[in-house]
Amino acid sequence: MKANTDKGISQKVRYSFIKILTGSDLSRKRLPFMSIESVNSGPVVWLTGCIHGDEVTGIVTIQEVFKTLQKQPLVKGSLYAFPLMNPIGFEAASRNITISREDLNRSFPGSKSGSLAQRIADKIFTTIKQTKPSLVLDLHNDWVKSIPYTVIDPNPGQPHKQAYEKAKAAAEKSGFLVILDNDVVEESLSFSLLRHDIPALTIELGESYVVNERNVEYGMKSVLDILAYLGMVDKPEETFSFGLPEVVKGKTLRFSTEPFSSASGVIRFLAKAGDVVKKGQAVAKIYNTFGKLQDTIVCISDGIVLGHSDSSVAFPGAPVMAFGVF
Ligand SMILES: [Zn+2]
Repeated sequence: MKANTDKGISQKVRYSFIKILTGSDLSRKRLPFMSIESVNSGPVVWLTGCIHGDEVTGIVTIQEVFKTLQKQPLVKGSLYAFPLMNPIGFEAASRNITISREDLNRSFPGSKSGSLAQRIADKIFTTIKQTKPSLVLDLHNDWVKSIPYTVIDPNPGQPHKQAYEKAKAAAEKSGFLVILDNDVVEESLSFSLLRHDIPALTIELGESYVVNERNVEYGMKSVLDILAYLGMVDKPEETFSFGLPEVVKGKTLRFSTEPFSSASGVIRFLAKAGDVVKKGQAVAKIYNTFGKLQDTIVCISDGIVLGHSDSSVAFPGAPVMAFGVF
């Protein structure tokens, strides 16, 4: 623990752990925990990363935000972080918790006596909830070929309206394209937080598996802008804005992975992440092994390509591309 005094502003920085599991070899698995607390009371914000073990950009983004805040201390409030929520999956570069094969982001709010994922989720959720946060930013990664964007969960209903509206307002300050999710993912971290009246949103920072330095920089700037919006840091000289085509700038779009493939075969993509597309436009073609066309994926709405699948393998019902649609 150290105090950082600069221009009369002081804060405590702390790095510690929360135990989650003792392995059969008696090794300990722990949740690394980071905190910066200003002496001036203010909003509490959480950053969470690597809930999916192969989504590594959030870990580094959180490290960079903390480094920045040690040079430019918080004006007020507290920033907390779980940079590596799924250390077991991370070590195997796997989305799920490998030893139980569970998706941690489908295990919230968790349970002390539940499955392994639910027990880890419970530790994360109760720790976050105890701090009564103003906002939780959950950092993820998407397909290898994808643009970064911010996701807002579906409206959790009237009783949780305030948390939902606050999450939406913060998303507008992220500098990324804002996408409304269609489907409720009941047991995700962000949706569970909203249902407990805690504003939460997801930031997808481009591709999984390998840290993309450009997306780290975008993520860091986005987080700092959101902290500035909450009055926790001084406003940066320049507000971050991810370079988007004019037609989608400032718009809130809806997430869609339709249409799905209707056939098996090899996918050849005709559009790439970040391309603006029109209703009726062909964006991918699926051929059988002899080169005979089996299906053409055609946009069902105007929008932008968020990304396309990590492989060129098609089968009936397989999502081929993700779109933000008007
Ligand atoms: Zn994820």
